[in-house]
Amino acid sequence: MGKLLIFSAPSGAGKTTIVHHLLTKFPELEFSISATTREARGDEQQGKDYYFISKEEFLHRIAKKQFVEFEEVYTGTFYGTLREEIERIWNNGKTVIFDIDVEGGLHLKRKYQEQALAIFVQPPSLEVLIERLTGRGTDSEEKLKERFAKAEKELNYAPKFDVILKNYDLATACQEAEQLVGDFLSK
Ligand code: ADP
Ligand code: 5GP
Repeated sequence: MGKLLIFSAPSGAGKTTIVHHLLTKFPELEFSISATTREARGDEQQGKDYYFISKEEFLHRIAKKQFVEFEEVYTGTFYGTLREEIERIWNNGKTVIFDIDVEGGLHLKRKYQEQALAIFVQPPSLEVLIERLTGRGTDSEEKLKERFAKAEKELNYAPKFDVILKNYDLATACQEAEQLVGDFLSK
């Protein structure tokens, strides 16, 4: 059994940016590619950013108990971590790194306990989060509204995590993340 590094936060807090940075710094890490029923966005690639699958296939995989955790993160849109994805990465001798929503992150922490480090990425405020999410320019107005509403609730989950990582200035946050990950990998 290997280790797991969980990065969770409301959408727009910066976890994807930080996780991508860490992947360039630590060859010991491998990204857990989630399955999702949403459409690919921007330059996202099948089997790199996500396994983009149909709702039928997702439901079939739920029935076959292939997910370690899954959620209907937004109405009608499912996301989940496949058991075989974690096993694939551990079999490569690597530590799994997750970019996952708050509920999913806590679910994994409860399941893997001391094997896992759960990090909450905290934006300076809800207002800044909204600015970042809008500025990313990847979501329709309707999708943005759903994300803002969810984000407001999720900001309250921070104390349930092992560590709160402030993402105010990106360079500082990346440096602090490197320190946390370096310590966790050497444990
Ligand atoms: P998440 O994965 O949590 O949804 P992203 O990593 O996609 O968030 O970041 C959301 C947007 O905010 C992106 O456009 C990203 O470039 C930007 N961003 C991330 N961190 C910062 C920061 N510290 N300051 C300013 N903008 C940031
Ligand atoms: P996005 O559509 O912006 O890529 O992701 C929306 C939300 O779903 C983000 O908070 C992201 O971290 C989360 N997410 C991605 N993969 C998974 C997963 O496998 N399980 C859960 N529970 N959430 C996920």
